[in-house]
Amino acid sequence: MADGLTADPYWWEAAEPRRLPETPVAAACDIAVVGAGYAGLSAALVLARAGRSVQVFDKLRPGEGASSRNGGLASGNIRMGFGEMIEAMGLEAALRFYREGKIAREGLADFIATEKIECDYQPVGRFVGAAQPSHYEAQGREADRLNKHLGTDAAMVPRSEQHREIGSDFYHGGMLRPDLAGLHPAKLHDGMLDRAIEAGVTVHGETAVTGIRGDGGGFEVETARGRVRAKQAIVATNGYSDNSDRWLRRRLVPVPSRMIATRPLPPETMARLMPKRRMLGETRQLYHYFRPSPDGTQILFGGRERVWRGEKNEFAAGLRADLGEIFPELADVPLSHSWYGFVAYNLDYLPRLFEREGVHYATGFCGSGVVWAWWIGSKLAFKLIGDAKAGTAFSCEPPSAVPFYTGTPWFLPAALFWFGLRDRMGAISKK
Ligand SMILES: Cc1cc2nc3c(=O)[nH]c(=O)nc-3n(C[C@H](O)[C@H](O)[C@H](O)COP(=O)(O)OP(=O)(O)OC[C@H]3O[C@@H](n4cnc5c(N)ncnc54)[C@H](O)[C@@H]3O)c2cc1C
Repeated sequence: MADGLTADPYWWEAAEPRRLPETPVAAACDIAVVGAGYAGLSAALVLARAGRSVQVFDKLRPGEGASSRNGGLASGNIRMGFGEMIEAMGLEAALRFYREGKIAREGLADFIATEKIECDYQPVGRFVGAAQPSHYEAQGREADRLNKHLGTDAAMVPRSEQHREIGSDFYHGGMLRPDLAGLHPAKLHDGMLDRAIEAGVTVHGETAVTGIRGDGGGFEVETARGRVRAKQAIVATNGYSDNSDRWLRRRLVPVPSRMIATRPLPPETMARLMPKRRMLGETRQLYHYFRPSPDGTQILFGGRERVWRGEKNEFAAGLRADLGEIFPELADVPLSHSWYGFVAYNLDYLPRLFEREGVHYATGFCGSGVVWAWWIGSKLAFKLIGDAKAGTAFSCEPPSAVPFYTGTPWFLPAALFWFGLRDRMGAISKK
């Protein structure tokens, strides 16, 4: 593998998380928010515009968590498939969740346009390749359900025609969702940060919150730079949650997800491999997600981390081998970036807002937080200010604790082995 591979996200070339000037931590405020990713900022923006005094704390540079590291697919996807959810909860409940996914995705597009956030939003749609012929059949049934109940224009693309979507023979056809979009995740975050600061939010970067204690009349929030008295508290730490909230850590499993970027490829190669510049995915359990860079010159390719120790080049090599399986001509392609971040899963795979001992939480985005973290963060804020827009199907009970888990996901290698085995047996991913 070539030298010069950087461990920073590709996205940081255009929008590296900012080191904010240090401002004094105010001793009191209306709302203290822990976490300055999409969820925390989205909540803070709504609250500040409603006249509340808001301080946001992030132990890293704001955005340095998942919100500037992700693949940029704006989907509103729920990890549990629509058909599976109908079976588990009934049609009416499944429709509530899935309808909201559509409204949330469209809401994010409106928000980006209204706020004039330049984040390369591209409504290019998404093609998901079927890893097995049986997956293609299952996708066809899911597409029929989505179209019938939600008016989605999902379409099946048979293997004989898939080269119009992807220059690969790896898949057995696939499903096209023209309604999904891609964007530049770090630019989206950067724009949200600007809007929040303009609205009067005080954002304290590199300032960890070490504890929150409720006393009936409000909260004492301990931070690395002093104590704050807040009327209300929001926790929006998702995959980066730490031991400052051990109760939450037992409920969220941080799963590392890695992405690589190829060096720029010739325009004719890009046009052949990704002719419509769509977002791409697949039905394997250990699935990959991939896309062209917004300028169409590089391929960004993501998947689960496969090795747990080693040099950065070793991590990237495994993923590049996977890329070469789908596009054999890229088996030895030089890479420019290889980075990872944490995705937060809970036991029932539902993103949600909830309350515990007066503290409000927005978490559990299960790899689809570009839409959900923004949406759930704003819903939570509407709830706190008593706005009618607070209504959401995702206001739930707290997630259950994961059995035998205290915050160190010792079982991940075994889980990855298990999912790999299921792939070899032809199982379909819920994605
Ligand atoms: C590699 C990768 C690819 C992904 N691809 C996609 C995709 O294509 N589409 C999609 O929809 N989603 C994707 N996701 C998921 C998406 O990025 C997340 O769901 C979303 O960014 C979550 O936003 P958030 O605000 O909840 O959390 P984050 O952006 O992770 O922010 C949480 C913040 O909390 C801070 N924090 C934690 N503890 C403390 C503390 N004690 N004190 C102060 N601060 C603290 C952290 O520093 C962090 O900045 C991907 C994620 C990864 C990692």
